[in-house]
Amino acid sequence: QSDLDQGIDYMFKIVLIGDSGVGKSQLLARFARNEFNSKSKATIGVEFQTKTVLMDHKVVRAQIWDTAGQERYQAVTTAYYRGAIGALLVYDITKHDTFDHVERWLEELRMHSDKNILVMLVGNKCDLGSLRAVPVEEAKELAQRQGLFFMETSALDSTNVEPAFLGLLSQIYVSIR
Ligand code: GDP
Ligand code: MG
Repeated sequence: QSDLDQGIDYMFKIVLIGDSGVGKSQLLARFARNEFNSKSKATIGVEFQTKTVLMDHKVVRAQIWDTAGQERYQAVTTAYYRGAIGALLVYDITKHDTFDHVERWLEELRMHSDKNILVMLVGNKCDLGSLRAVPVEEAKELAQRQGLFFMETSALDSTNVEPAFLGLLSQIYVSIR
């Protein structure tokens, strides 16, 4: 680990945002530790996890912040967004209201972070296709209109979790070079 620390070429801060219950913490657990805990409870206090990946022979460390339940009170703080160069904005494909709140989250994000922040819109819980409430086309249209990348994921069965995080990281990498 310490050898690796010496060799970090880039550190990217990423924030997870979106309504409570959409699966942000499980997406992070899946990406960072390949875990899913069906009995996950709300965590207390701001937390982040790191994941180190190789990109173009460079060592990129992602520091990924998780809102730890504050989203319920619309109390995500300025410190949470500070220094972020990427965001995963997550909604639940089975709950249309979580999708309706995406533009509110975008406003908040753009108010608190760099205007050029790159955003991956993530429709999570795609394993629950029979309960789908948000059509893929509707999400694609929003992503296009707002200049976001888009992917549907499942933290439960791992679908697209790596592509969502790594896709965002590689877009950031390309944009800063
Ligand atoms: P957060 O509030 O956004 O951090 O959401 P959590 O990660 O705590 O997840 C909320 C609930 O949704 C938990 O009961 C999870 O087990 C469940 N969940 C999260 N991701 C998925 C998924 O991809 N598929 C399914 N079926 N359930 C999920
Ligand atoms: Mg959470």
